[in-house]
Amino acid sequence: MNMWQSKMTGIVDAHVHMGAIATEDHILDINRAIGVKRTALVSIQDPTHGSGLPQSLYMKARHPEAFYVFAGLNHGEKLSDGRVRTPSLVSQLDGFVAMGCDGIKMIEGKPTSRQVMDIPVTDAYFADYWARVEELGFPIVWHVNDPEEFWNPKLLPAWAQKQGWGYGPSDVTKEQLYAEVDEVLARHPQLRIVFAHFYFLSADLTRAARFFDAHPTAHFDLTPGVEMLFNMSRDPAATREFFIKYADRIVFGTDIASRNTVAEAVFRAGIVYRWLESEDTFRIPEGADFLLGQPEDGIIHGLSLPDDVLARIYHGNIARLAGEQPRPLDIGRAIGECTRIGAIAQGMSNTPAEDTEAVRVARKLEALA
Ligand SMILES: [Zn+2]
Repeated sequence: MNMWQSKMTGIVDAHVHMGAIATEDHILDINRAIGVKRTALVSIQDPTHGSGLPQSLYMKARHPEAFYVFAGLNHGEKLSDGRVRTPSLVSQLDGFVAMGCDGIKMIEGKPTSRQVMDIPVTDAYFADYWARVEELGFPIVWHVNDPEEFWNPKLLPAWAQKQGWGYGPSDVTKEQLYAEVDEVLARHPQLRIVFAHFYFLSADLTRAARFFDAHPTAHFDLTPGVEMLFNMSRDPAATREFFIKYADRIVFGTDIASRNTVAEAVFRAGIVYRWLESEDTFRIPEGADFLLGQPEDGIIHGLSLPDDVLARIYHGNIARLAGEQPRPLDIGRAIGECTRIGAIAQGMSNTPAEDTEAVRVARKLEALA
């Protein structure tokens, strides 16, 4: 296996997706194989299936030192046109804080999320929530937007098309999504946000710099979007300068999912490590997972960043945002949350709550409590 490991220690992978709890040992194997100390499980809720967040709470309960949990919001009430009741976004947030979550994960702002729930983040539905997150200083990992080529059928990569990530005239535009974020940040300038995938500004570092200068509490993570690596390899000297100047605003992440094989995870993390640390010129290796595309035309130029910059990107920045240590989980509250999520799923899908991942997790947590 073509392994590229980091020379640094204490690395936190700030963007990982946990699947079924059956992958518990597997995700621990992945973490060992890629040499990370901790991961942040970004936990988008699937209200219909009662999954997404419960598995992450389970991992935090079982391995309190190893996992931060960024909890997604449950929009079951909106999605069911009020048929199912869910707590207000503010009470969901307060619940996450009380139970020991470390932050919020949002995907409201990816065009596919807008297709499912067409409520802009500037809507009154989110107003009290934004105010409360800002007041608490609770960090958010937020996926807004997508690469510009996803709006252009001629440029849409095959792997993205397969995921249903091609957008047309009936979809929200890239600039509209940015404008909505600008409006939220104008109202709430203290929000501590890590925008996933470099906020899809990797093709325009001038604009990225303008955004950072205008929003001192904004950060970007380095999860591929493989186009990010290709875009920023066009002018490695300018990219390197950007990374050194904004070293406090950039956060390492891989977007590894617990369904990835260990080999895929090693490739995925290794590509980012090698890009940040080496002076190599290289391509995506054969064997990388399909979201990294075919090893076709993309060339990556290593940035050979200084160690103090790497240290901030690998752990210093996320520690400042989410704490040096993950917060301890209140297992009783986590059981309550999972039970509620299971009931919402039953209301939305007629699947018995007992058959949801949420209630399976609740039962496992009861055994631990
Ligand atoms: Zn992700």
